[in-house]
Amino acid sequence: MTLARNGAGEMKECDVLVVGAGPAGSGAARASALAGARTLMVDKKKEIGTPVQCGEVIGTDLVKRSGMRIPENAIVSRQGFTRFVLGREVTIDNSEPYWRGVTVERKIFDKYLAFRAGFAGAAIQADTKLLSVKMDGDSVKSCLLSHQGDEVELSPKAIVAADGVHSTLSKELKAEFFSTRDVARGVEFELVAKRDIPQCMQIFIEPEIGLGYGWIIPKGKRRANVGVGLVGVNASRRSFLEDWITGHPVVSRYFDVDKVLEVKMGDAPVPGFLGGPVRGNVLFCGDAAGQTLAFVGEGIMPSYICGSLAGKHAALLSQGKGQRYEEDLVDNMADQLMMGALLRDTLVELWSSDDLDGRMRSLLSGAVMNELVSPDDMMHSLSALEKDPLNAFKGLIKHSGRSMKVKRC
Ligand SMILES: Cc1cc2nc3c(=O)[nH]c(=O)nc-3n(C[C@H](O)[C@H](O)[C@H](O)COP(=O)(O)OP(=O)(O)OC[C@H]3O[C@@H](n4cnc5c(N)ncnc54)[C@H](O)[C@@H]3O)c2cc1C
Repeated sequence: MTLARNGAGEMKECDVLVVGAGPAGSGAARASALAGARTLMVDKKKEIGTPVQCGEVIGTDLVKRSGMRIPENAIVSRQGFTRFVLGREVTIDNSEPYWRGVTVERKIFDKYLAFRAGFAGAAIQADTKLLSVKMDGDSVKSCLLSHQGDEVELSPKAIVAADGVHSTLSKELKAEFFSTRDVARGVEFELVAKRDIPQCMQIFIEPEIGLGYGWIIPKGKRRANVGVGLVGVNASRRSFLEDWITGHPVVSRYFDVDKVLEVKMGDAPVPGFLGGPVRGNVLFCGDAAGQTLAFVGEGIMPSYICGSLAGKHAALLSQGKGQRYEEDLVDNMADQLMMGALLRDTLVELWSSDDLDGRMRSLLSGAVMNELVSPDDMMHSLSALEKDPLNAFKGLIKHSGRSMKVKRC
């Protein structure tokens, strides 16, 4: 084993280099170490998990699929249902399994995931940034890293690109998997509430936001992440959010913008299903590979699960055994990722249709997201929803047999 020494510390040569210590990277580093590969995970952040760029809500359904337990000290709120506020007109409370969740402190959760990777045997270096790579044909021959301020060159046999939506590795390899059109611009404030807030995630779909949505994600009775994800809106995110909160009849009931505990800003890829991309000896996962549930941008657990698969197959590749990342991903996550992509495509279609006004786009989006109508026959519900949305939704819910409640807003 070669050692790369420098003034600031010491980094060991590795079989698998994982770039990025978000959920995808930590899942990958743990799986790679458990598969017996000498694994190193690096992150450019000085502290893993900080700053937070996320609503911090996790669907409990996918946690079960991951086989992982979220530590109690990371959970700040539990939600038995999600409330959809459609066009400021009707609300749907959906308590189907997918729409139950918990809010975590990602500063604690991400560090816990990285700890698990370290506990499984991976080496971890924060404050270590991938700067560039040297190629040998299709594969990466060596990686140049800035490690606590000094430059270090490593030659891993396989690399996991878990370096997020603006991935350095995808740029270096000229393998950009999605365009900026497929990226939602997010901004949120963690706010102190004026009164007790409902203990559910609230999703706001309305013409004032367009394609994309607003949210309130509780972090306790009087604290929440309040934000918007914007698609195709170029306005300043921060002023858009301030105006939205203060001008919204429901949101402003609970929040002013004078008690901001934290500002969280970031981009979320929502390209639809891209599979498990591999270029030479580099396996891409998480946001770097657009592995979110594209209709809502949920990415924490999908990234962790897909990252774990990438790590396992990177270890195999480094051991000269050949990898089946794409196939494994299709077996384990294609159902969720493809459903998310289908719903996302339908929402894009709705919000670009000239035949619908903003009110109808909002109501139909709610019907589609709650799977009360299928993308193919949603237009059959158009006139009923237009005339009397409350009773139309009641009928659709009864027909579906799902556990949901609808009310006037
Ligand atoms: C505003 C917003 C709200 C969101 N809310 C939710 C939510 O409530 N629930 C949910 O499930 N998902 C949510 N998401 C999506 C979720 O945050 C991401 O899908 C998830 O974090 C992806 O994990 P990842 O590990 O792929 O990437 P990241 O978490 O982005 O981690 C990538 C890591 O790579 C590091 N890195 C980047 N470049 C380099 C480099 N050159 N060298 C070394 N390190 C590097 C970064 O520092 C970072 O730590 C939200 C996203 C946004 C933008």
